[in-house]
Amino acid sequence: MINSRDIHDLHPVVQDKCRRFLEECKKSGIDILVTSTYRDSEAQNALYAQGRTRPGKIVTNAKAGQSFHNWCVAFDVVPVVHGKPVWDDTDIWLSIGHIGRSCGLEWAGDWKSFPEKPHFQFTGGLTLKDFQNGKTL
Ligand SMILES: [Zn+2]
Repeated sequence: MINSRDIHDLHPVVQDKCRRFLEECKKSGIDILVTSTYRDSEAQNALYAQGRTRPGKIVTNAKAGQSFHNWCVAFDVVPVVHGKPVWDDTDIWLSIGHIGRSCGLEWAGDWKSFPEKPHFQFTGGLTLKDFQNGKTL
C-alpha cells in the first residue's frame, strides 16, 4: 500500500507547481506541511472504507481510481504555526488558496459541493475518466 507525502511522487508538471506554491507560501510567511500526494488503489480503498465499513469519520467519496491523488496530480497540505498543524484558521486557508490559484493550481476550497481546503490539484483540463482511459498530462 502506498500512501505518499513525498512531492517526488507527483507528476513532474504538478511537482513544479507544488514547489512554486510552497516557495510562495514561505515568502508570505506561511509554513506548509504536505500531508498527502500519491495514493495507490489499496490506500484509496482503505480511505474510502473509513466511516463506512471501518471506524472513523468519512473523509472521501472516492474509491480507487476516482481520486486525482491516484493519478499523481493532487496533493493535500496543512499550514503549520509554531510547529503545529492548524486546521481551523479560515484566514490562513484563504491566503493559501489564493497563492495556490496564482501558481496555476485548482483549490478544492473553492468547490461548491464537498469543499476540501487542504486539497490542491492540476489536471490540465483532463477528467478522471481521461486518466482512467490512460491519458496523462
Ligand atoms: Zn486531496
